[in-house]
Amino acid sequence: MIAAINSIRNLSDRVKVFELHLPEAVGFIAGQFVIVKALINGESIERSYSIANQKAEKTNALELCVALNTAGMMTPYLFGLGTGAKLEISMPQGGFVLRDTSVDVPNLFVCTGTGVAPFRSMIAASLALNPNRHVHLVFGNRKVEDVLYHEHWLALREQNSNFHYHPVLSKCDEGLAALPNSNNFHKGYVHPVYEQLLSKDLGSHVYVCGWEVMCKESRERLKAMGLTRRQYFFEQYDG
Ligand SMILES: Cc1cc2nc3c(=O)[nH]c(=O)nc-3n(C[C@H](O)[C@H](O)[C@H](O)COP(=O)(O)OP(=O)(O)OC[C@H]3O[C@@H](n4cnc5c(N)ncnc54)[C@H](O)[C@@H]3O)c2cc1C
Repeated sequence: MIAAINSIRNLSDRVKVFELHLPEAVGFIAGQFVIVKALINGESIERSYSIANQKAEKTNALELCVALNTAGMMTPYLFGLGTGAKLEISMPQGGFVLRDTSVDVPNLFVCTGTGVAPFRSMIAASLALNPNRHVHLVFGNRKVEDVLYHEHWLALREQNSNFHYHPVLSKCDEGLAALPNSNNFHKGYVHPVYEQLLSKDLGSHVYVCGWEVMCKESRERLKAMGLTRRQYFFEQYDG
């Protein structure tokens, strides 16, 4: 289908949110993605982008949260577009969605960078499905400026005492103290943070989203902790 870019806003210096207006309302399951197709330098290019809407509902407005890779094909092209530009996209698809939702165990969402995009609707759905469930977001970034939707996560934590937000910074920097709730930040990488949470409840379900290095290490660590394949689920952004 052909969508039009309704608005573009900066989330950080290398991440933009593209709000797309669709010709008709479509439904999607929290966690799904769309494929963006474009003819770039005479080559037909397709790339997947998670739907970053806050809520999975039938809608004609889809939000994509895209990080610029200056050496890449699609992202420099997208970052060069303005509002009103047309984009060809697929219908929502993908199997990275909440599993065994009737099982009342904590849900841990682990990501870095734009890997947080599908978790916007997945976390909302997880909290809505079972008001007693504890839901954790372990969100890794290099620096404070890279933390996407930080205010949204803080507000959600205020609204829902079962939502626990664990931002993690690998490069500690001077901007930290200026942020609201700065003492809530962990230093380092996401892995020790989710390991500590899991050690309190090894029956938890874990959803991991992001680039290969983080996903690969998480898979090894979750396995080493004794979690079974029915307890952890991955969306790897590069293949
Ligand atoms: C299911 C799925 C959902 C995705 N959702 C999103 C999303 O919501 N937001 C988003 O920004 N991307 C997302 N991606 C990644 C996206 O599809 C592209 O791979 C990415 O935007 C780079 O595209 P490109 O054409 O600019 O670069 P390419 O020409 O494809 O990339 C060049 C190289 O750089 C690597 N690379 C690109 N970007 C990064 C990065 N940031 N960190 C590490 N390595 C990188 C690629 O693996 C490749 O080796 C998703 C991928 C999948 C499979």
